[in-house]
Amino acid sequence: MRIVSVVGNRPQFVKAAPLSRALREHVDERLVHTGQHYDPELADLFFDELSIPRPDHALGVGAGSQLDQLAAMLRGLESVLGVERPDAVLVYGDTTTTLAGALAARKLGYPVAHVEAGLRSFEPSMPEEQNRVLTDHLSSLLFCPTQVAVDNLAAEGIREGVHRVGDVMFDASLLFADAASHRPGPERWGLRPGEYLLVTVHRAAATDTDEALTALVEVLGSLDRPAVFPVHPRTRAALEAAGLWDRLASASSIIVAPPIGYLDFARALRDAQAVLTDSGGVQKEAFFARVPCLTLREETEWVETVEAGFNRLVGMDPERVAAALASLSVPEEQPSFYGDGHAAELTAEILVRELG
Ligand code: UDP
Repeated sequence: MRIVSVVGNRPQFVKAAPLSRALREHVDERLVHTGQHYDPELADLFFDELSIPRPDHALGVGAGSQLDQLAAMLRGLESVLGVERPDAVLVYGDTTTTLAGALAARKLGYPVAHVEAGLRSFEPSMPEEQNRVLTDHLSSLLFCPTQVAVDNLAAEGIREGVHRVGDVMFDASLLFADAASHRPGPERWGLRPGEYLLVTVHRAAATDTDEALTALVEVLGSLDRPAVFPVHPRTRAALEAAGLWDRLASASSIIVAPPIGYLDFARALRDAQAVLTDSGGVQKEAFFARVPCLTLREETEWVETVEAGFNRLVGMDPERVAAALASLSVPEEQPSFYGDGHAAELTAEILVRELG
C-alpha cells in the first residue's frame, strides 16, 4: 500500500515525525514537501533533529499570497500524484499545504486522510478555519485528536470515516522529551528556570495590520517580567515593515531571538513560568508540560484546555494579560484529553485496515 503524505509547515513537520515512523512500519510512504515554510530554522532543522525522512518530492513553492501558493502546490501535486498513484493522500492540520493536498487528491480521485480533523475556532475569517472546514469536507478518513473534534464534525453532518485517535503532537512531546531535556536551559538567555515567560506569535490576525502589530508591541512591552520571544520570520518581517521592530526589540522585558528548533523550544517551554501564544500547537504543548498558557486570541480550537483551567483567553489586551499573570497556576488534576501517546500507531493501523 502506498500513501503520499503532504507537509510544508513547521507544525506539520512535528506531526509527521511520529506518524511517518508509525506509517513506515506498514506502508510505502512517499513524502511531499510543498516548501510553504522554507527558512532553514522553520524547515530543514526539523527534518534533521526529528529524524523525519527526506522528502521524495520537494515542490519548492516558497513565498507568495495564499492563492499563489495554493495554485503552485496544486500544479506540483498533480504531477507528483500522477507518478506515485497512491492508495490515499494524507494531510495534516490547517494550512494552505493541507488544503492543496486534499483538493488535488480529491480532484484526481484519491481518498484523503486528514490528521487533526474536526478542529474549529468558529471564526470564518481565519485562513486556518477555512482550510480545516474545506479539508474535512474533502476527506474520507478523519483522524480527530479529541472528542470535541468528533462532535464538531457530527454537527456538520460528517460521521463516516471519523476516528478519535488522540493527538500526534502529544506523541511527539513524549517521543522527544528526553532529547529536549538535554538541550541548553534558559541560562543561554541569562535567565533561571521558572523566572521567565515564553512568547510565540505568528497568526494573520496578529500580524496583518499595523493596528494589530501595535497592539502586539503594546502587550509585550507591558510585561512585568522577562519574556523570551523566538520571532517567526513572518512576524519579524511584518514588524519591520510597520516600523515597529526596534520598539519591540528595545522593550526592557523582551528578549528577541530567531525561531528555535523543536527540542530547544520544548526545553524552553518546560522551564517557563507561563507561555503567551497565538499558536495552536503551543497551547497544547503548554498543557502537556503543565505550564500555564495565556492565549493571545479571543477564541481557541483547543477549548478543553481552557475549560480544564490550563489555558486562558486574554486577547491582545495588556490588562487581561497582567491580571492572568498575577494569578498563574494549573490545576493538580490533568485530564487525558489527547490520548495515551500512541495516536500515530493507531492512525497507521486504521489507515491500513480501512484502505486495505
Ligand atoms: N516551535 C518551535 N520553535 C519555535 C516556536 C514553535 O519549534 O520557535 C514549535 C512548537 O513547539 C510546536 C510548533 O512549532 O510544535 C507549532 O507551530 P506553529 O506555532 O508555527 O503553528 P500552529 O501550531 O499554530 O499551527
